[in-house]
This record gives sequence, C-alpha cells and structure tokens, in this order.
Amino acid sequence: MKKTDFILEHYPSYEVNIGIEVHVQLTTNSKIFCSSPNNISDQPNSNICHICTGQPGVLPVLNKEVVHCAIKAGLATNCIIAPLSTFARKHYFYPDLPKNYQITQSDKPICSEGKVVIRLEDGSLKPIRITRIHMEEDAGKNIHVANTNESFIDLNRAGTPLLEIVTYPDISSAYEAREYLKSLRLIVQYLGICSGNMEEGAFRADTNISVRKKGAQELGTKCELKNINSFKFISDAIEYETGRQIELLESGQSVQQETRLWNTKKGITETMRLKEEAADYRYFDDPDLPLIIISQEEIDAVKMNLPELPSEKYEQLLAQGLSAYEADILVQDLELSAFYEKAHKLTTSKQLINWILRDLMGLLKSTKTSLAESRITPFNLAELIELIEKGTVNTRTAQEIFIEMASTGRDSHIIMQEKGLQQMDNLDELEQIIKQIIAENQESVTAYKAGKEKLWGFFVGQAMQKTKGKGNPQTINELLKKFLN
Ligand SMILES: [Zn+2]
Repeated sequence: MKKTDFILEHYPSYEVNIGIEVHVQLTTNSKIFCSSPNNISDQPNSNICHICTGQPGVLPVLNKEVVHCAIKAGLATNCIIAPLSTFARKHYFYPDLPKNYQITQSDKPICSEGKVVIRLEDGSLKPIRITRIHMEEDAGKNIHVANTNESFIDLNRAGTPLLEIVTYPDISSAYEAREYLKSLRLIVQYLGICSGNMEEGAFRADTNISVRKKGAQELGTKCELKNINSFKFISDAIEYETGRQIELLESGQSVQQETRLWNTKKGITETMRLKEEAADYRYFDDPDLPLIIISQEEIDAVKMNLPELPSEKYEQLLAQGLSAYEADILVQDLELSAFYEKAHKLTTSKQLINWILRDLMGLLKSTKTSLAESRITPFNLAELIELIEKGTVNTRTAQEIFIEMASTGRDSHIIMQEKGLQQMDNLDELEQIIKQIIAENQESVTAYKAGKEKLWGFFVGQAMQKTKGKGNPQTINELLKKFLN
C-alpha cells in the first residue's frame, strides 16, 4: 500500500490512473436466461439445460430477479437507471462458450453515471465515478488435466448471472483501488445480491492501469490486469505495474496495450495477450431478447425495499456513540454488526462494544471459531453486561461467566446463580472481612501507615482473595480507606 506512494514519490512528475471492472456473481435462484439452478455443484455438467448449453433453436428468457439485482446495485451506487436498455451478443469462439457469443449489454446498459464514495487515509472522502453497470451471462469452465494432457468442459457456470460494474479511471493509488473494491464488495453484500467471495470468483476485478506525466491531457497507454482474487494481490500488482510502466517511459520505451497476469510467486505482472480491439466482438442487439423496459414505479418499488447500506450503517453507529474505529470494524462485518445491533436493543451500555471487540473477538480468534459457530448469543451477552451495570457481578467474575457461556451457551444469570458468582456487596459482611485482614496483617498496616503506600494493592488483593473475587471493588476500596487512614 505504501510502495505505490513510494514509487510515485520517487517519480513526482508522474501519476497513475486506474479504472476497475468488477464482475459480481449474483445469488439468484436460477440462471439468467433459463431455469437451471444457479449454484455451485461438485458434479460437472449437472446444473445445465438446452438453453445454457446453447443448443440450436432455443430461446433465452430473462430472469426478472437479475434485473432487480441490477436496479438495486444501480441505486446503491447512485446510478441513473435506464428506462430502456438492451442485450447484445458479444462474439468470440471459446470451448466454454457453446453459442460462440456471450449475451451481455453493450451501448445501452441498464445503469450508468454513478459513484461510490471511498474514505482516504487522512479520513477525507473521494467519489469514484461509475461509468456503467450491465447485466451479462457467465461462460462455462475449461478444465485442463496436466499429467494426462486431457481437457474437459464443465458448463455448470454457463448462464450464471453477472453484473459488470465499471469505473472511470478516477483511482490514483493502490490504496484507493483497495478501498474502492472493499466498499463495492460491502455494498453488494449488504444488498444481498452477491456472496462477495473472491476466492470462489464470485467477486472478481480486472484493473486497467496507465501512467502519465502530471498535467498531461491524454491518458497513457493502459494495461489490463486480469482476474486477481485478493485485495492484497490487487494492490501488490498495481504497485508493481505502476513502477514497471514509469520505468519503461523513463528509459525511453513505450507501454504496449495488453492484458497482463499477476504472478503471485514471482511478485511480477506478465504478458497474457495483446488486447483485442472492441470491434472484433461484432456486437449487435440480441434479436432473441426483448427490450428491457423499466418503469419509474418499478424503480421506486425496489428503492422502497433497499436494505441499509454500509455508509448508512456507519453513520448510524457513530450516532449511537461508537468511535469511527469501532463503527468501521462493525460495518466491515455484516454478521458482527447484526450481533451488535441485536445486543444493543437489549442494553445501551457503553461496555457492549468493548465486550464485543475485545472479549468476543478475542475468544473467536483464540478458539478459531466463527461467530455463527460460537455459543455466545446477543441476548446472553447483553444480559451479562446488564449484570455488570447493576453491580450484580463485577468485571472479574463476568469474565468467568463469559467463558462458561461460550462453552455451554447457557444464560448468564443461571451460570451466576449456580456458581454463586453474585457480587458480594453486603456492607456488614465486607466490613468483617476487612477487619479480619487488618487484624491478621498488623505489620503491613503499620508499614502502610508509616508511608509505604504501595501496600494498598496488597490489602485489596487480600480482600478479593477472601471474597473469592466476588467482592465489590468499590466498596472494598471505601472500607479500606476507612480502616487504614
Ligand atoms: Zn440452463
């Protein structure tokens, strides 16, 4: 993340211009143009039919749900939703594409001219403009077996609905690229239209990178980095590619327009193929599919049911008194923020967020479990915090109850009662204990009174020991003050 800045600092007369195309795999029940199930199957060629395998004479029928997903994505990224858009055929030959064309949208996409706002390192906001969002079908997969030299085709993925979301070249560092991708991924996850799983290819980014001298009118020649499946690799690849292009120009050479791949092992980008011209695809409107007409009522209906977006959740958490840091952690994790919100309905204690970020996250990390697998429920945690707030248990015994809750999933007040962990708050009882400690430790008392103030901790420790950790620390401190001074 810092290295790009380093490269650009090293060549202060240059800037990098990055545009990103993201393919978002939609989580609809069925595929985009047929009723075959849209899910990952281990059995090759099991989720297929005559339509998604491109048999002659079949007619595609558009899945309405895909259009709704596109409208949602468009609204969440401040796009204009086109009242009329069309599907086009993009022609190319490849074994995993039996029709020899992909159905996509060309010059009339469903959404255009939007923006995603990202937060920069200094906390300021920057809009990244979206040029378009369009719907398309995915292709199948070729599987090459290295040792037998055989190739297979699995068409399960053919016809899987995708949204392609394309930015203007507004992104000007690896850091911004990463922030944009993180923001966009959260948006589609919040919308419930994509799993966001990068390793499985459900959210994949192609990055166009070019460099130019600051103040130049034209963009430099771009290279496309294809299919990089982690945020880290994307920012590493951008760092490398920025440096490579600047160094080419500095040594008097030029940048070739091409598609490059990130070599994870070597940490470099490598040529994959020279870029085909767009005209090679011979786009034309698909005569098998009708125009996509969207009414304002339809858009309004989707808007009405739009779930809360990450930026809205962030603002809401700040309004609840969380710090920017705390709110950010919750926003990045839908599961965790849902947990927080459920618990927050039951307790408004400021301790809640600390228990979630410190104790709960700590526990999940040390036991290598997910929140879903954990036996701590929002209800139990909120109840435990209320017990602390009311002074029924102290923080120390609360930790003990928490550990027990995590392994048994039982209610905090039941654990407290069974283990006799209620805070000892009875003044007479505690006074007896303090008197006993003083009687048993006369030497220390004399030393303390003579000015050895460090012994205070010793007396508190004794009191906690005698109350088995259950004494109310505040009362103990007050009583010690009374008897020792
Ligand atoms: Zn099918």
